[in-house]
Amino acid sequence: MLRYDVIVCGAGPAGAMAAYRLAKSGLKVALLEKHLLPRHKTCGGGMPVTMERCLADVDTSALIESEVTFMRHSWKFEDSILAAINLPGSGERLKLWMVQRHQFDFALAQHAAAAGAELKDGLAVRSVEPNGNHVVVRAQWTKTNGEVAKGKAFNAIADYVIGADGANGVTVKATNLRQNPPMAIAMEVEYPHVWGTGHPHLSSNTLHLDYGAIGDGYAWVFPKKNHLNVGAGLFRMDRTVRRSESTIGLTLKQVICNYLTQLHVPFDSSQMRFHAHPLPLWRGKEPRHTTDGRILLVGDAAGLVGPLFGDGLLHGVKSGLIAAECIKSGTSQEYTNCIHNEFAANFDAALKLSRFFYQWPYLCYKFGVKQERATPIAARLLAGELSFQEMGDRFMQRMKQQMTGLLSAT
Ligand SMILES: Cc1cc2nc3c(=O)[nH]c(=O)nc-3n(C[C@H](O)[C@H](O)[C@H](O)COP(=O)(O)OP(=O)(O)OC[C@H]3O[C@@H](n4cnc5c(N)ncnc54)[C@H](O)[C@@H]3O)c2cc1C
Repeated sequence: MLRYDVIVCGAGPAGAMAAYRLAKSGLKVALLEKHLLPRHKTCGGGMPVTMERCLADVDTSALIESEVTFMRHSWKFEDSILAAINLPGSGERLKLWMVQRHQFDFALAQHAAAAGAELKDGLAVRSVEPNGNHVVVRAQWTKTNGEVAKGKAFNAIADYVIGADGANGVTVKATNLRQNPPMAIAMEVEYPHVWGTGHPHLSSNTLHLDYGAIGDGYAWVFPKKNHLNVGAGLFRMDRTVRRSESTIGLTLKQVICNYLTQLHVPFDSSQMRFHAHPLPLWRGKEPRHTTDGRILLVGDAAGLVGPLFGDGLLHGVKSGLIAAECIKSGTSQEYTNCIHNEFAANFDAALKLSRFFYQWPYLCYKFGVKQERATPIAARLLAGELSFQEMGDRFMQRMKQQMTGLLSAT
């Protein structure tokens, strides 16, 4: 059997950055990815520029397709407002990076490989079993279409395993750490676009968000170099689980097509490749490592997706780096605490806000999102520069006052 210090299952951003950090410190690391890289990843590909701090020496220059400094918000595609991410005169320099996930993830995986991690793509992990002081990982080579290929299986033991295999991964199931976690769902399509055509507000520095076109979620248009990433998601898990998958799929597709129509982008839906994927939103404190401290969950596998926006890239990478630090310093038993210290208070406040927001979307749009300060606040929340605890209570207080005012006026 092959032997490693650490096996990382899944070469998304969380796994790749964990593998990079561990390999760089001299540990023998395997990074296993079930798809052949580069592979498509269902995602909007938007992230705050503060991601840069976590990527250390990754050369991002060729990966950033556009930099967003404006957001255009709308309610049912109307009543829109265009707002800058940085208030004039505020001195802030925030922006959002837009990437294509297949390129971004591949670059991070290659970065890990360059640091010494053994990158093995086309290798699907089948089982992860604790075995005394080790963990046994069994995997199977796959073909381009994802089917299992005939041939020798990959069997290895490691001192530690990092479960970075995403929302539906094997490690979550194997460890039983997060049982039947409820999932949100989102869909996206990458649609070719020529800048200068379509709606006058279509611009490579502007993202679009609509809150009323879909109940319990929002729809978006993210600008890429030659594409628009158009998507929609349902972020209220309690309601999402009650709908049938086919109804959800049809609704999301319809909203995406409606968004393109509203932005005067001609399209042929039969030529569009719609991709949908579950999002394991944060739902509170849960163990993120096994009791022996040998298997650690990161990123989506650990349910670290923000409950209001559905953003998981920055949290995924941060958790990968935290897991790597815990393993390097021999404190893997502290991993769950470290994750809770980093995320719990903020995500709990975001969850509270998200329940309120998706319960009263129109009022939140009218009295919250449309305010001049709302866009810079959203950008700072996404960037981790402002916490949901800091702004959540004030926001809800204000909304409640507005609602009481409305009710007493009727
Ligand atoms: C439609 C949509 C839009 C989104 N838009 C955004 C956005 O704009 N910004 C943002 O921050 N977040 C967004 N997210 C969330 C974001 O995509 C995830 O939070 C992020 O990808 C998590 O990274 P990860 O590394 O934890 O997992 P993933 O990126 O899911 O990577 C997991 C990897 O593990 C591999 N894998 C799975 N099973 C196995 C196995 N058995 N063996 C080996 N490998 C395996 C997978 O192939 C994959 O490469 C979006 C999600 C969706 C669904």
